[in-house]
Amino acid sequence: MTQAPLRLFNSLTRSLETFTPVHAGEARVYTCGPTVYNYPHIGNMRAYVFADVLGRTLSWKGYKLTHVINITDVGHLTDDADSGEDKLEKMAAEKAQDIWDIARHYTQAYWDDVKALNIRQPAHWSIATDYVPQMIEFAKSIAEEHCYELESGLYFDTSTVKDYGRLARAVTEDGEGRIDTVEGKRHAADFAIWRKTPAGEKRQMEWDSPWGRGAPGWHLECSVMGEKLLGFPFDIHTGGIDHREIHHPNEIAQNQAFCHSDVSGANIWMHNNFLVERTGKMSKSSGEFLRLQLLIDKGYHPLAYRMMCLQAHYRSELEFSWEGLQAAFVRLKRMVMIVGGSKFKVEPSVLKELLSRDPLVLRDRLEQVSLRALEKFEGAVSDDLNTAEALVAFEEAIGLKGAAFIDSIVISTLLMDSVLGLNLLNLSRADLRIRPKSAAITEPEIEAALERRKEARAAKDFATSDAIRDELTAKGVEVMDGDPLGWDWKL
Ligand code: AMP
Ligand code: ZN
Repeated sequence: MTQAPLRLFNSLTRSLETFTPVHAGEARVYTCGPTVYNYPHIGNMRAYVFADVLGRTLSWKGYKLTHVINITDVGHLTDDADSGEDKLEKMAAEKAQDIWDIARHYTQAYWDDVKALNIRQPAHWSIATDYVPQMIEFAKSIAEEHCYELESGLYFDTSTVKDYGRLARAVTEDGEGRIDTVEGKRHAADFAIWRKTPAGEKRQMEWDSPWGRGAPGWHLECSVMGEKLLGFPFDIHTGGIDHREIHHPNEIAQNQAFCHSDVSGANIWMHNNFLVERTGKMSKSSGEFLRLQLLIDKGYHPLAYRMMCLQAHYRSELEFSWEGLQAAFVRLKRMVMIVGGSKFKVEPSVLKELLSRDPLVLRDRLEQVSLRALEKFEGAVSDDLNTAEALVAFEEAIGLKGAAFIDSIVISTLLMDSVLGLNLLNLSRADLRIRPKSAAITEPEIEAALERRKEARAAKDFATSDAIRDELTAKGVEVMDGDPLGWDWKL
């Protein structure tokens, strides 16, 4: 098999590197997960679509993947540095609810989005509050050499490790863009390992520790769960680009302290760029913020958003617009129609056999021209996950015309979609018809009206036919006579 070597951009060295696993044949990946104080916005979900494509690519390359995604249910303050309140405590107080219920509710909401976006289940969903005793042990092991205690808790002294902030390329001197809000910190960049509950206060989530009753600092959890579940060094650590500035440099500092060396904890640190939205709808504090459910309520299939993410390189900023989402949806529909049409034409026994095989062994059964498209696809994903180019190769492979290519189209889809995850072999036209929440008409009503219209037209009763069409238009249904995709109507 001619598989191109996988090249990935390492934020630590700011360069493309060939992936070489720590443990032969394996890939161990840690992804910083959501803070479950609110619904994730679609920008957050871009981070997990990216991590999913990375995981799928590693599996496609034949590595045995162990992927960990954590759930942050404690410690993340309203400011990524050490100021503000714990996001979950704040939300629980505002809503006068039990903090554990808040965490459970938003974790489930996140998992619903994960499923809707066809993101594969990782080997472990590690929940921060399940690891508090391990966090205390970890902190104890670095406290003497690297930490100091203040009234408010235990702090990491960033001057005790070599090259603090090398990931962020930040200068570590005081005042470098950090606001020193905690009294007594030795350096502005020093950060909390343990936050003591202030005297006279009670938090809903608090534990006993050698530094008083309180809660762990946010950065600690990822160091601890990464070490416990994957071992240092593991292969790849991912997160959004904001984590390159504070959270990951702090994780690295903790890992260096724990390992008594310059080991950063992971060989490659990868960061997805942001999804941006100009009108502020991505802010969780805005009334109707951009959740995946909002897209669905407006009639978009969630995988149209996955398509939108795949159309951009993960390291580029991606601007959200409804027009852009609509274009991605049309592209998805087109692919679903082509693949569905081909699948329908494959001999049922052949289809059954193809679907039961490991896609990689089907490669030899591809037509020459399909094989060339596959090689292009493989080159694109191997080049730092260039999904935009991979999609073009995919469309080339499924766009081949003629009976001779039918089996190849299905095989190409099996292969390529195992990386892109658009679920093309399972989606049907009916699945893509998402009813906008505001729709005043149901699908059976539309189908019945169109049937009556067809009869009227057959009887050359054009007045009735036009009247039915106008009625449908008034209810938000666009009738699409002669649509090349056979998409007869849309809401
Ligand atoms: P949080 O729940 O705030 O901890 O964030 C979850 C993930 O989403 C992290 O990896 C963030 O870096 C990432 N993230 C936050 N905002 C965006 C955005 N607008 N676009 C892409 N990723 C984001
Ligand atoms: Zn993290």
